[in-house]
Amino acid sequence: MVKYISVIGAGTMGRGIAYTCAAAGFSVAVQDIDSTNLKKCQEYIDIQCQKAISKGVLSAEEAKKCCNNVVYTKSLKEAAEQADLVIEAVPEIMSLKIEIFKQLDEFAPPHAILATNTSTMSPTEIGAQTKRPSQCIALHFFNPVPKMKLIEVICGLETADETVEKSYTFGEAIGKECVKINEFPGFAVSRMNCVIGNEAMKMVQEGVGTVEDIDKAMKLGLNHPMGPLELADLVGLDTRLRNMEYLHQTLGEHYRPCPILTKYVKAGRLGKKTGKGFYEYRNEQQLVKK
Ligand code: NAD
Repeated sequence: MVKYISVIGAGTMGRGIAYTCAAAGFSVAVQDIDSTNLKKCQEYIDIQCQKAISKGVLSAEEAKKCCNNVVYTKSLKEAAEQADLVIEAVPEIMSLKIEIFKQLDEFAPPHAILATNTSTMSPTEIGAQTKRPSQCIALHFFNPVPKMKLIEVICGLETADETVEKSYTFGEAIGKECVKINEFPGFAVSRMNCVIGNEAMKMVQEGVGTVEDIDKAMKLGLNHPMGPLELADLVGLDTRLRNMEYLHQTLGEHYRPCPILTKYVKAGRLGKKTGKGFYEYRNEQQLVKK
């Protein structure tokens, strides 16, 4: 039974995953190489707890327990050595994920499941670098994790049925719904979402419409809750660029990243996290660009 969770990487996704697991009563160890990001993670969890109290989702006592359920560390060994389930959420770089999985294989108990939160990459390739490929899987959470109901459960070639079953049980325990996806680059959601986002960026580049009008068209015309450009800003344009590059490399020309995306990333416009992407942000308020 999963009791102890280890979250590797305390960025946009790691924070959300850590909070969601702690709020559901799991013991969580969060690891990052950057102490500023660990601190931001702690602040994020405190804020989420306050919000949950004011919305009546958690009582004051439950919120306190939630905060106490989380420990923060820069040591991968310390984070992994008690884990029943490890969820890796470091940047979308295959060599980095492989390096971390090799270390996790050494540090985590033999029964532990090693999961990656990759948006696009192969859990087979990552798991093959460990001595426990049958216990490796991708658990693809969505942003913002506390709000989004879905986990894509992506099975690699060697993933055991037991690992899938345990993943489903864990997903249910944190209040999520799972879908089982057989491994293919981009899985189901990222592949569709990246193409929609890339088309929207091409339209901006071609002058088909303004950023606001393209987003509005998708929201009101197709009933999408967010426009594709607003969503790319939320994801992080650096993360989106890496996703597109991987899909381009594995699936071909159709997935070539739009040049405007590359240009924005080179300029340091990474979306909401840096205050500027397709939109500008101040105090979490979206400001209209141009
Ligand atoms: P992010 O850049 O916000 O956070 C990554 C974190 O990993 C940072 O805090 C960084 O300091 C840390 N890190 C870097 N190297 C590390 C190492 N060697 N050991 C430990 N920590 C390290 O990235 P993110 O947006 O949270 O994305 C993480 C993963 O989740 C990626 O694989 C991404 O594709 C996937 N994902 C992202 C989203 C999204 O909307 N952002 C959605 C679903 C899945």
